[in-house]
Amino acid sequence: MFYVDAHQDLAYSALAFGRDYRRSVHETRTREVNTSVADVTGTCTLGFPEMRRSGIGLIFATLFTLPVEHQKKGELAYHSVDGAHAQALAQLDIYNRWVDADEHLHFVTSKSDLARVIELRGDPKRERRDIGLVLLMENAEPILEPDEADEWWNRGVRIIGPAWARNRYTGSSREGESLKSLGEALLDRMQRSGFVLDLTHMSDSAASASLARYSGPIVVTHANARRFVGGTRMISDEVLHGVVSGGGILGLMPANWALGKPDSAGERRGEVTADSVADAVLRLRRYLGSGAVGLGSDWDGGFGREQLPGEFDSIGDIGVIAEALLKRGAADEFVESFMGGNWLRFIENVLPYSS
Ligand SMILES: [Zn+2]
Repeated sequence: MFYVDAHQDLAYSALAFGRDYRRSVHETRTREVNTSVADVTGTCTLGFPEMRRSGIGLIFATLFTLPVEHQKKGELAYHSVDGAHAQALAQLDIYNRWVDADEHLHFVTSKSDLARVIELRGDPKRERRDIGLVLLMENAEPILEPDEADEWWNRGVRIIGPAWARNRYTGSSREGESLKSLGEALLDRMQRSGFVLDLTHMSDSAASASLARYSGPIVVTHANARRFVGGTRMISDEVLHGVVSGGGILGLMPANWALGKPDSAGERRGEVTADSVADAVLRLRRYLGSGAVGLGSDWDGGFGREQLPGEFDSIGDIGVIAEALLKRGAADEFVESFMGGNWLRFIENVLPYSS
């Protein structure tokens, strides 16, 4: 079992709310009793102990920064480009601290790093405790200017999703503006360095312009197909075809709102089930092909347990998706591909040989 989760905003929650994901979910929840953390960002669902238990071996771990225009009460946001830059560096420090302190956590910046994590997970003495982190910058605003992309590469970032909301580089799915000229320059620099481009949160026109311009690897780490659930945040047919025809992957979010069942108050928790997730996966497989779909949970990405399908309490339960797929008659081989194999093959292919 080697599951891959293509989207977790670990360091944002660590910086904004003091969450230390080396703790178990239970411990974090206990520490947050009588605080307002869960009111702001939802009940915690992530912890490395639970990830280890469930078989997750690789995470695309984000440097996510929130523009102040979209700040909800209690969230940490930036007020300037310099503020975004400083917050992304602070998040990078958090990952560095975790990796330094835990011999079972590893940055994955190259094929050889990935091979090492795979090897360690195969060592029975280490009990599959090793987890690799591929750094993903979500929202490119912390990059002071396109030329600075290289420095972020040297700091270990391998994937950039230029959009979250509108910024200096691109429009987003919120406002619909397209890729800007500074964004074109950023893509050109990213391509020279070897970054993977994540189209999540881009407007249709920005995503189409990026597909036309970028000849490096392109993915969507956390979304769903618009044709199944609607909404501009989800990905259009045209953009999905561009991503998949280039060998890219769509990471599906197993969260109620991304399955087309808005449930923000959590009152209808239980109405969306593991079967709903399996349905979504199988629909995507039929539409995109079995090699083009994977997991991108985004859990703890501004929402918590309240937004998870009924059978899921934490990331420790992520294997319930595999069980639901098998119950539906999906072949073992496809289940493994969806839960990790597809992302693993993709990332193995696109990483440089050594850092
Ligand atoms: Zn996101």
